Parts: sequence; structure tokens; C-alpha cells
Amino acid sequence: MQVTFRGTRGSIPAPGPQTARYGGNTSCVDVRLDDGTMLIFDAGTGIRTLGGAMMAEPGPIEAYIFLTHMHWDHIQGLPFFTPAFLDTTRLHFFGPEEPPLTLEQVLCDQMRRPYYPIPMHAMAGRMDFTAMTEGSVSHAVPGAAIEVCELNHPGKTLGFRVEVDNKVFVYATDNEPFGSDPVTQHLVSPSRLVEFARGADLLIQDAQYTQQEYPQRLGWGHSTHIDALKLARDAGVKQLALYHHDPTHSDADIDRMVAQCQAWIKKHKARFTFFAAAEGDCVAL
Ligand SMILES: [Zn+2]
Ligand SMILES: [Zn+2]
Repeated sequence: MQVTFRGTRGSIPAPGPQTARYGGNTSCVDVRLDDGTMLIFDAGTGIRTLGGAMMAEPGPIEAYIFLTHMHWDHIQGLPFFTPAFLDTTRLHFFGPEEPPLTLEQVLCDQMRRPYYPIPMHAMAGRMDFTAMTEGSVSHAVPGAAIEVCELNHPGKTLGFRVEVDNKVFVYATDNEPFGSDPVTQHLVSPSRLVEFARGADLLIQDAQYTQQEYPQRLGWGHSTHIDALKLARDAGVKQLALYHHDPTHSDADIDRMVAQCQAWIKKHKARFTFFAAAEGDCVAL
């Protein structure tokens, strides 16, 4: 499978010369299986350029779209995902639900007037919606098993583990270490994220804050870059991508975090590789 980063930013788009290298678009990653099947993780503003790339390919479009949660930075690109406007397109959505709202309702709501001029179901593509919860496993994608784990974040948030041909891809963003302070306890008990990420060939993990910033952002539902390293080590992953960069961080800030990670890896003699995800990065597994 081939993994491509379309948006690596968290919270809100952060365009401009200071963020040109790591990118300003919000969360979106596509995973292209060897048989061409297209999986998309999150529909932040990065999904717009992915849509353009998909439109340039021949044939009808079909994609499986996995949404971690409904915060804007993870769904806001959807109204601008051009393939959804074609009547030959089929989109299968998967994500969490917080009753009484269904997954379909929440996605439709962000496109209601006056927020957007075209209702979601006026898009010509055929769409279906499947709610997923902690522990559920989907076999909707032919040849793949996709498991779900609830993450420690305000509001229901899911991580995804994809296994195809003995390769494992784990997408876990918007999660905070389950600390002793009650404000960090968004779940009733710690997430099973370490076991969930076990042995992944690639783990994409929230690394939003520096260690200096985190104490002021306790309970906001995110990790530091060092938390991401610890998770990768504890789970025995092969490769880690630091993801969901803070909108206030410049390329130089992220470079500094990368240097701190390199020092940590050396000090702890960790055996996995890592990189800070940049828009356009492509990883073959
Ligand atoms: Zn987010
Ligand atoms: Zn969030």
C-alpha cells in the first residue's frame, strides 16, 4: 500500500510562507492499496487536492472514507471534494456517532444553509454511511480488515488500524495521554492505543504540542512529540509519522521538534524510524 499525506495540520488551516514546507492544510491522508482501492483518512482541507488528483485519473471513482471525529479540521474539506459531485462516484463513509445525531446527519449539517450553498445530498455521487464503535472491525474494503479503537479526546474519536497482506497501517490522531489530572480523562478508562498500534509498519500519531506548551493545553485532547515517540516505542512500531501539527508552529518550530526527537531516539536507543509528516509526503509499505 502507498500512504500519501494531503493535509498534516491540526485545528485550523495555517497557510503562509512560515508553514510552506510541512503544509497548511488540515488532516487528510490517502492509502492506496496495491489493487488500486482508495482509502481516505479524515476529510480536512487536504482532501481538496486529493480530489483534484483523483479527477485526473481515468474511470469512475470509488473511495472508502474513514473519519476519526467530526471536529472541523477533520471534515471541512468535504464540501470541496470534487469527485463527490459526479454521478459516477461512490463514497463509503465510516466514523463515530454521538446519538441522537447520526454520522450522515452531522456531515449533512455542515453543508446546510447558510454554511454552504449546496446540500450534501445534492452532490451527485452515491454515498453510504456506516457507524463504527470501539472494537468494531470492518471488512467493507475487499481484502482489508479495518479495526477501530476509541481515542482519548473530547467527543467520540476513533483510531483506525488497517491490515492488508500482512502490512499494518495505524491512523491515530487527536488523542491525549490519559493522565492523572481529571481534565485529561476524556474516556472512563485509558484507551488501549498501545496494543492497538502494536507492530504497525507505519503509525500516524498526534504530535501537536511541545513539552513547554502542553501544561497550558491540558485537556485539549492532544499529545506532544515526545508522547508520540513513547507510544511508538511501547507499541513496537517500525515507523512513526508526527502529525496534526499545531497551527502556530512554523516549519522551523517543527524542525526543532524533529531535532529533539532525534536526541530522544539516540538517548533511549529506540529502534524505530520517524519523520514529521509534510504535505505531499508519500510512504510505501
Ligand atoms: Zn484535529
Ligand atoms: Zn479534534
